[in-house]
Amino acid sequence: MAVETIFSKIIRREVPADIVYQDDLVTAFRDIEPQAPIHILIIPNIFIATINDVKPEHEQTLGHMIIVAAKIAKQESIVYDGYRLIMNCNQHSGQEVFHIHMHLVGGHHLGPLLTKNE
Ligand code: AMP
Repeated sequence: MAVETIFSKIIRREVPADIVYQDDLVTAFRDIEPQAPIHILIIPNIFIATINDVKPEHEQTLGHMIIVAAKIAKQESIVYDGYRLIMNCNQHSGQEVFHIHMHLVGGHHLGPLLTKNE
């Protein structure tokens, strides 16, 4: 069952967001609490709660998210320095919004991929 999140409202432009890219399949906007100088979320326009809910028919949309990430990285002039794409799934990852999204982070040296929680 499709459950509305704040991201559905951003896609429909019912709540304000700094949208940097939108097409028929995906929407991308700046994260409200950036963790790096550039922190953009790329989301499918259709509702998918978690990566566990991805189905074969979503393949084109999910592939497109990466194409769009690279396009935005170019727009933001971080292709040569580099950047990181992150997708969280469920509790251990810290997923907060249950509408899948890809974080594109960059703009400075990002450090190690994971910090160890004792
Ligand atoms: P995650 O922890 O992977 O679920 O990430 C959710 C992200 O959504 C966090 O980085 C939040 O800062 C971001 N976020 C939540 N609400 C908004 C919003 N209204 N506009 C932009 N980013 C948001």
